[in-house]
Amino acid sequence: MSAIDDLIIANERYTAGLAPADLPLPRRGSLVIVTCMDLRIETGRAFGLREGDAYVLRNAGGRLAPAIPSLVVSQELLGTDALAIIHHSDCGMTTFTDEELRTRLRARGLDARRMEFGAFADIDESVREDMRAYQSCALLRQEIEVRGFVFEVETGHLREIVTG
Ligand code: ZN
Repeated sequence: MSAIDDLIIANERYTAGLAPADLPLPRRGSLVIVTCMDLRIETGRAFGLREGDAYVLRNAGGRLAPAIPSLVVSQELLGTDALAIIHHSDCGMTTFTDEELRTRLRARGLDARRMEFGAFADIDESVREDMRAYQSCALLRQEIEVRGFVFEVETGHLREIVTG
């Protein structure tokens, strides 16, 4: 079983009202999670993570692009070998477009033309897009386990996005 399988089992216990922290799971410290900064995602309880279990990279939307430099560091210097990309339902990143935010900033005299905010319309598609972005990034190790998920904030359930 991989560290990502452990995470899925811990999440099943979480949604069943059990305590994932009580699971005697093997811990590796080789897992990276890229997820949204949304306050409703409590990665410790929801995914059964304790100190030292995983590197958690968070940003608006849980997008891959802003996490790439940290991912490269984790792979090259820390030897991480598994990545879970976890976006979530009801994400604030679906409530605006990058262009709308640029326009808002422009109204205050600010130039954000070169900044990508990573807003998206479809949550499942945003996960697939980031999985594809991973595969097309030559700096990232392609032999490791990379899987994508949507965390349903309404139920706490982790739903895997199958690509193919
Ligand atoms: Zn979000």
